[in-house]
Amino acid sequence: MARLFFAIWPPAATAAALCEWAGLVQRSAGGRALDAAAIHLTLAFLGDLEPERAAAAIAAARSVRGVPHVLPVEETKHWPRNDIVWVGPREMPPPLEALASSLAAALAGEGFALERRRFAAHVTLLRKVRVAPRLPPLPQLEWPVEEFSLVRSTLAAGGSRYEIVERFPLRQDAPRI
Ligand code: ATP
Ligand code: MG
Repeated sequence: MARLFFAIWPPAATAAALCEWAGLVQRSAGGRALDAAAIHLTLAFLGDLEPERAAAAIAAARSVRGVPHVLPVEETKHWPRNDIVWVGPREMPPPLEALASSLAAALAGEGFALERRRFAAHVTLLRKVRVAPRLPPLPQLEWPVEEFSLVRSTLAAGGSRYEIVERFPLRQDAPRI
């Protein structure tokens, strides 16, 4: 069994910039910042799967057609109900919404029961932030979305560790002439 989810990983420089911003928040408000390598946007959470169900999830993901786009990261929020600080787009980019919903539909077609909650583009940067933090402005960030990934999560001492199992590139459709 493996604990699996689909996610979008930022380019390393973007993750580093987000991690640096999270460090500023942590200095003033405490909490635990994610390592740069762990920063991601979850598209769909699967949970613990047997290998044959993981194969079905991979088959579903291969059938998904999404288009490359850019994720604007401009919103910052602290949620006192679960003590996290997250960042994300102010408005859902339509290609991201389309990607999440076509992945959800493909997974449903393979019999996966996903959460009924509407997809939200949240990138968690800190946990256990128990006081209302002052959230500094975000730096200019580039987050091109050109693929999504199936990721395995394993429990480790300092929090979950993530490993990419398979990548699914997004391809701009060839222009019709
Ligand atoms: P930890 O659970 O160790 O604090 P984590 O939540 O980052 O760390 P996982 O629980 O393996 O690690 O979750 C992987 C990703 O899936 C995270 O982005 C998490 O927010 C998301 N996730 C976890 N459980 C669910 C769920 N029930 N529904 C939707 N998303 C989930
Ligand atoms: Mg969790």
